[in-house]
This record gives sequence, C-alpha cells and structure tokens, in this order.
Amino acid sequence: QELSAAELERSFIAIKPDGVQRGLIAEIIARFERKGYKLVAIKLVHPTKDFAEKHYDDLKGRPFFNGLTDFLSSGPVVAMVWEGQGVIKYGRKLIGATAPLASEPGTIRGDLAIAVGRNIIHGSDGPETAKDEIALWFKPEELLSYKKETDKWLY
Ligand code: ADP
Ligand code: MG
Repeated sequence: QELSAAELERSFIAIKPDGVQRGLIAEIIARFERKGYKLVAIKLVHPTKDFAEKHYDDLKGRPFFNGLTDFLSSGPVVAMVWEGQGVIKYGRKLIGATAPLASEPGTIRGDLAIAVGRNIIHGSDGPETAKDEIALWFKPEELLSYKKETDKWLY
C-alpha cells in the first residue's frame, strides 16, 4: 500500500563524536531500525568548526556554544536521515531529554550517557529544523526513497 505524506516524514539524526568513539553506532542505529523507521541516508563526516557553528546556529550566544561546536567538530559524526510516521517527535522520545541524567531509562541518552555536553546523539526538534538540517548535511541525491517488504507490516 502507498505511504501517505505523514508516513514519509523525515528527521535528521546524528551520532556525535562521543557516540562514535564509544562504539555506540550500531546500538543507536538498532533502536531506530527496530522501532520501524527507515534509514534513507547515512554517512560518516568530520565536521569543521564552521560547519558545526552552522548546525547549531540557533544556539549562538549561549555560554556553551563554543565548547559545543568544538566538540561536534572534534571527530567523525554519523549523519543520518530516518523516515517514518512521527519520526521527528518520536525520534526525540527515543533519544530522551537533553540532559542524560534527566532522561528516562529506556531512552538512548538515559541508557547510554551521563553529561549534557556528551549526550551522544542529535535529533531534529521540529519539521522546520528537520528540513533545514537535512539540507545542511545532505545533497538531495544522497537521500534515497525505497520500499521495504516490512512496510506493509508496519503501516
Ligand atoms: P537537544 O540536543 O536535546 O536538542 P539543545 O538543542 O537544547 O538540545 O542543545 C544542543 C546541544 O547542546 C545538546 O544536545 C547538548 O549537547 C548541548 N547543550 C545543551 N545545553 C547545554 C548546557 N547547559 N551545557 C553544555 N552543553 C549543553
Ligand atoms: Mg536541539
């Protein structure tokens, strides 16, 4: 059956340098995959400081901005786009609260991180940021649309 526009919602999800260094790539990907979301783009990127500042543009002026952008540009990041119904909002639920000690157990940050400055994963916080972040990190031709056999068992 054809997927509706809502089901084709997309979010930008990134495993930050700490998640990569700690060997949590597969663990994090597995959680989105098992939920039923579909990976439509993925690459390993070492962002420049300038690029990190673009990504976190909305946080410019915050006291932690310099440390945050130093950190994001400190090593390889797994940049991804995940697709599926409710993926923006529910993806944030899978990720957990910004401060890992305030994240519920069962969430990615709740289960796998401690410090707010080392919270291992980024997820778009709304439809507009998702659109902007996907456009910042990916060229249109890097995003794939494809059917999976399991689609009909999910929707
Ligand atoms: P989220 O990643 O949950 O969307 P924000 O967009 O508010 O959170 O902040 C972006 C990132 O900045 C956070 O994931 C975290 O790594 C970092 N950050 C946020 N608040 C703080 C803080 N008070 N001190 C240090 N780093 C912070
Ligand atoms: Mg945010």
